Amino acid sequence: TGLSRPQRMLKAVQKNATKGDPQSVIAAIDYYCRHKEWAMNVGDDKGPILDSVVSEVNPSTALELGTYCGYSTVRIARLLSPGSKLITVEFNPAYAAVARQIIAHAGLQNKVTLVEGGSGDLIPKIKEQFGITSFDFVFLDHWKDRYLPDIKLLEDCGLLKKGSVLLADNVICPGTPEYLEYVRNSPRYKSQYFQSYLEYTKAEDGLEKSVFLG
Ligand code: SAM
Ligand code: MG
Repeated sequence: TGLSRPQRMLKAVQKNATKGDPQSVIAAIDYYCRHKEWAMNVGDDKGPILDSVVSEVNPSTALELGTYCGYSTVRIARLLSPGSKLITVEFNPAYAAVARQIIAHAGLQNKVTLVEGGSGDLIPKIKEQFGITSFDFVFLDHWKDRYLPDIKLLEDCGLLKKGSVLLADNVICPGTPEYLEYVRNSPRYKSQYFQSYLEYTKAEDGLEKSVFLG
């Protein structure tokens, strides 16, 4: 058939996950990606680390850079307290269209605002467009060479406050050396590595949690 990989993942969700049940959406995607075809979701090895950081921070305002099909969006949004909001950014319209349907299948559309566009264009407009003063939690999982410029942009736009938590995926594989060097050596961050595996493989990868100290 002429379906793309994201569309095939969406079909697996529609067939195997219960509407309004985020956990079943997550399980359907992980099953599909372990048994049928690999995809660049944060996945079920690193996913529990993401969950525990989100739960610990309990953010009122959260930002995700890189939505893809909405797998990590569902993971984060399902843990948000009532009234909390997640903004997620995706510049590929075909991926964004699939993500909207997966987020809706999980019943999380009221907690999530999916913005179609480039992170570098969006970040400077966030305060004005969404009336947000700062983010309590930011998940970085877009193209790896954008992590460092985009956190500098978040700093410059005043979107981080003392205690804001950044969580960066794929810091080992494919790797984000300039970003790691910055957050580990800057006196403005307290940074910690969580070792795990690249999604759906046995290759080492991990997440870097960095607390903004102001
Ligand atoms: N966070 C997703 C998950 O775990 O389910 C996976 C995201 S995937 C690794 C990275 C996504 O970021 C791709 O869909 C890509 O199109 C998008 N992307 C890359 N650079 C971007 C940018 N500068 N602005 C917006 N989206 C971007
Ligand atoms: Mg990733």
